[in-house]
Amino acid sequence: MAWRVLLRRKDVHTGLLNLAFRAGGTECFSSGAVAKPSQFIHCNKLQGAANCTIFKHYPIRNFHAGVYMLAWSRKKEDVVGLKAPKKEKRVRKETRTQPPVEAPYVAPKPKMTIKTSPDKTVEIFDGMTLLDLSKRSGATISALQSILQDLGEKVESEFDSISIDLAELVAMEIGVNIKRMHTGEGTVEPRPAVVTVMGHVDHGKTSLLDSLRQTSVAAKEAGGITQHIGAFVVEMTSGASITFLDTPGHAAFSAMRARGAAVTDIVVLVVAADDGVMPQTLEAMSHAKVANVPIVVAINKCDKSGADPERVRIQLGSEGLLLEDMGGDVQVVEISALSKLGLDKLEEALLLQAEIMDLKARTDGPAQAFVVEARVDRGRGPLATAIVKSGTLISGQYIVVGAEWGRIRSLRDTAGKVTEAAKPAMPIEIEGLRGLPMAGDDVVVVDSEERARMLSQGRKKKQEKDRLRKIDEGMTEEAEIAEETPERVEMPIIVKADVQGSVQAVTDALRSLNSPQVFVNIVHVGVGPVSEHDIDLAQACRAYIVGFNVRNPPSAITLGATQANIKILLHKVIYHLLEEMGRLIVEKAPGVAETQISGEAEVLNIFELKGRSKSKGPDIKIAGCRITDGHFSRSGTMRLLRSGDVVFEGPCASLKREKQDADTLDKGSDCGLVIEDCDHFQVGDTIQCLEQVIRKPKFISTQSGAVRIEC
Ligand code: GDP
Repeated sequence: MAWRVLLRRKDVHTGLLNLAFRAGGTECFSSGAVAKPSQFIHCNKLQGAANCTIFKHYPIRNFHAGVYMLAWSRKKEDVVGLKAPKKEKRVRKETRTQPPVEAPYVAPKPKMTIKTSPDKTVEIFDGMTLLDLSKRSGATISALQSILQDLGEKVESEFDSISIDLAELVAMEIGVNIKRMHTGEGTVEPRPAVVTVMGHVDHGKTSLLDSLRQTSVAAKEAGGITQHIGAFVVEMTSGASITFLDTPGHAAFSAMRARGAAVTDIVVLVVAADDGVMPQTLEAMSHAKVANVPIVVAINKCDKSGADPERVRIQLGSEGLLLEDMGGDVQVVEISALSKLGLDKLEEALLLQAEIMDLKARTDGPAQAFVVEARVDRGRGPLATAIVKSGTLISGQYIVVGAEWGRIRSLRDTAGKVTEAAKPAMPIEIEGLRGLPMAGDDVVVVDSEERARMLSQGRKKKQEKDRLRKIDEGMTEEAEIAEETPERVEMPIIVKADVQGSVQAVTDALRSLNSPQVFVNIVHVGVGPVSEHDIDLAQACRAYIVGFNVRNPPSAITLGATQANIKILLHKVIYHLLEEMGRLIVEKAPGVAETQISGEAEVLNIFELKGRSKSKGPDIKIAGCRITDGHFSRSGTMRLLRSGDVVFEGPCASLKREKQDADTLDKGSDCGLVIEDCDHFQVGDTIQCLEQVIRKPKFISTQSGAVRIEC
């Protein structure tokens, strides 16, 4: 029987190591074993431990690590190219009544080895057989059985089914990524649409969300006060409802999608009637297209005198958006978020779009949900706003959220009312988690606290493994870059933002500014305003502090930052933040030294200075030139060309205009030029002046709103 070690402690009296196990729901200690926490050990003496009392001592007489773990560690130690060790001769076992306690530990031979493929993603589902998992993961049945045994589960046949949680635990041990597939079986009912508002900065996304929030029946009941929890529901008098994600912005949308959280059903594309299609309008269109999410266009600010909705329609049409008025299927509504005009029409359009899409979800059974925002409340601890995708989330359930776990202490709706359960498309604030999850994390319901702990531990371990692997890959990549460009400076950055989702989005966006010359190193991230701790950290590593959507820090902190010469950048619009960071990165970049032709001159005459004294040097030839292009400088290198071929190249020995020494001369000037060690000028030759310049990288922002640093 295999047991997972919970902790390891040395007995002060005996000096022996005590291992704590969880066995049959109770914890017990055993002395004398050597294993690390979370490792598995086999121990026959503990076979009956299901009935053991807490902390009762069970001496381990004989133990060995799980075969799978050993196979794993052996594989790692294997030297590539070496032959497999010869099989040892089978020796008949001695018949012993007691296994020798002092005998040195000999690891059992691994039964199998498993190829790890960390980039592989395996689809898992509840009730899948061992054979299914084996086919998908590429691991052998016996390997899977061995892992299951280590997990304390016994599966005899390859046709036996296992739970989705167990499948995930096994998959994590193998080292593959998983995608949980959820059954659609059960009562399937229509569900409200989940809508994200996107568009160019200042076109009125936030104003629209504010106005929509106020039209909600719940908001009216609550006197217009609703919580900002990352999403809200607009309930119409007809009983229909629409869920809006409260964080407008493309980065958050993409960050969520990148993490597999496809919660958005419809995108509302806000375009200001007085401004028209702008770079971020196009960016929003591409995001929606890539995500295969339909668009409903809201032409905003129609109350303004300069509004021209027709122009916006034509612009959108020419960008390839097939508008309804032009025979396509994209609905367009003219609104004013400020004076709340046309909001009912927009809601109708969204309901119609949802109807066309025939949005349905399973409403019974365990819930599957996604986190849209997470924060820490001083009194209530970590809080996560999630949107249920299917099933029903019930208060009191054990859940695993990303790599965190907890038991739902309370569920609150957007009006802050405590509720017992949450149905599909319902945003809900979950209280009771042990740690802070990230936007885009999945929420899964598990049977017990033990399963929740195990899954969370397994996921954390996998995350850490992936992180180390990425660092490893990054280091190799960096080493390659370093070979190409000798100098690469580092730009340490601390990111603070209002919510976890923004932290993620800003971090991802900043990393996109990485270049071979400047390494954007995010040294610390956090939710909340810029604190004293951030200043200390920034001072220690000369970091810039980026605050996104956070309030201005108190004057004492600002003063501290100024005195320590630390730059704090506060922004509310991600594009503006990237622009400023881009500028700073370009400034900081060492640049690449390049030789440039700064000017060209034609040789019109040749003068010779003969019979010079010894102290003044030997005879010299002077080229009498006219600068025909650019400028010439005394510090430049001169290149002599004849009929297009380079005849000589050397430093400038003298540059004079009318017998006066000159540092630089511009186009049109006549000059006398001497090139060191060169005396074979001919009339009609061309002389080029070469200068060393430092070329800095460029901050590029594309039409679609994407940014990058080009070296
Ligand atoms: P966002 O950057 O897209 O979130 O834009 P905001 O919602 O912050 O709006 C930018 C500016 O446009 C603010 O000054 C708003 O008051 C103004 N604005 C938004 N909607 C309207 C509207 O319908 N009419 C007018 N006249 N101004 C608006």
